[in-house]
Amino acid sequence: MAERYDSIIIGAGFAGLAAGIRLAQFQERVLILESHFIPGGLNSYYFRGGKDKLFNTGLHTVTNFNAKNRRWGFGLICRNLGIPASEFSLVPPSRPSLIEVPGAGLDFNNDLDVLRGSIAERFPAEVEAFDRFCTDMSQLEDVQRLYGIGSRTWLEEYFRDPVLMDLLELPVYIYGGYSEKQIDAATFSTVFRSIFLEGCSSPPDIKHILDLLIKRFKSLGGELKMRKRVARIDCEGGAFRAVELADGTRIEADRCLSSAGLCETGQLAGEVWGRTCPLSVFETVVSVNAPMTDLQADYTLQLISEQERFDWKAPDERGAFDHLTLAASAFYDFAEEPHAKHFKIGCFQKGELWLGLDEETYQREKNHLEERLLQVLLARYPGLRDVEAEHCESLTPRTVVTYTSHLNGGIYGGAEKTFDGTTAVQDLFIIGNDQGGIGIMGALTSGVVVSNFQVILKSART
Ligand SMILES: Cc1cc2nc3c(=O)[nH]c(=O)nc-3n(C[C@H](O)[C@H](O)[C@H](O)COP(=O)(O)OP(=O)(O)OC[C@H]3O[C@@H](n4cnc5c(N)ncnc54)[C@H](O)[C@@H]3O)c2cc1C
Repeated sequence: MAERYDSIIIGAGFAGLAAGIRLAQFQERVLILESHFIPGGLNSYYFRGGKDKLFNTGLHTVTNFNAKNRRWGFGLICRNLGIPASEFSLVPPSRPSLIEVPGAGLDFNNDLDVLRGSIAERFPAEVEAFDRFCTDMSQLEDVQRLYGIGSRTWLEEYFRDPVLMDLLELPVYIYGGYSEKQIDAATFSTVFRSIFLEGCSSPPDIKHILDLLIKRFKSLGGELKMRKRVARIDCEGGAFRAVELADGTRIEADRCLSSAGLCETGQLAGEVWGRTCPLSVFETVVSVNAPMTDLQADYTLQLISEQERFDWKAPDERGAFDHLTLAASAFYDFAEEPHAKHFKIGCFQKGELWLGLDEETYQREKNHLEERLLQVLLARYPGLRDVEAEHCESLTPRTVVTYTSHLNGGIYGGAEKTFDGTTAVQDLFIIGNDQGGIGIMGALTSGVVVSNFQVILKSART
């Protein structure tokens, strides 16, 4: 006899864990299946050189720091998951961040007035438009319309200066650009609001939040099975029936919520769904153990475009880059002495260019790009020149595929979303990046919202 659950969730990333907690509050038998041996998916962790030497994959920043609004963002997550905000141990950055395009830059931190002041200084004619834009964003009236238009079209309803629009788009695309060229204005507004209006933060490390979520899930009776890869989704008469694991085990359930991705879930179900996005990432982390005073660095995040005119796509050539992210974990308050400080530099790459290479070519290309990125990192954080690196390692699109199974090493899901979480198969839902829940807070929100609207409310009505 096959095992049977109320709900099966594919993936123990942020969307899967949030959905698991939400459903386990209402259902007796909830199972999360994860193919990797560590949870977290795209925002996970690993150890190098000892059990106290933890490295986060991802984690430049956790957005939506402000949890005051119980119906949105972090507030909504805490309320629905039943976890007090304080337990996430988030702290704001202690230094400002920078957005930069050729010839212009803006500073920001969690005080919106810093960004506003920067705009007032460099684009004085646009300040009134910026105020209107921010006010409208906090009380969006016609979100449906925004799903139907691109972000630039929407920005042009407020602003005139193309350089300012480039500067406002750059951070949102870097942290949520799920398709080349343009993303929809609704997702743009969510990511913009999450970064600038609600503010950035970080936990001590990502394991802290993952452990918190898993503890809560298990306390509600949920089951988490690691190293269990779903190899097939069994549907009958257009409805979900069961999953089949790589080891051949069949597990039945009333429904399945998948964070594997829309295209990827389609493949598991023998269907062709969604559209992949070519964008993946290459990121190098350097850890140093030097006093803060020796580092002489200014910015927590540096979001940079080297293009004259902002055009969101990854270069066609492997190893070339147009858009860069630099993140200094050293500039969150708990990262003071004696912890090691991690500096990251990343750029966007076409995932497919890094897949299927022979080992020698892969290592050579990896070393080459790593070297080039390290030169930029040293130029941007010159204090690093005089301190010895404890560790240096790079994540490539191939790493993303290996540890998350996302096609092309996609980090924000495919170019097509299912915003309500439904698929062509009854009782098979999509959560996470491909439902439009991008980033750590986005994925958590997605797990909560799809569980609420597609499962809990519907069960209550029947
Ligand atoms: C380098 C990098 C930096 C980032 N930085 C930030 C940041 O600073 N701030 C931020 O908010 N976001 C950041 N992100 C984005 C963020 O990590 C993602 O948007 C978010 O984690 C997506 O969560 P998810 O649950 O939707 O998907 P995932 O994290 O991809 O989780 C899906 C899970 O499903 C599992 N899975 C897939 N297929 C199967 C299968 N067949 N069977 C069983 N399990 C399966 C995977 O192993 C994975 O654990 C970053 C991402 C990367 C890669």
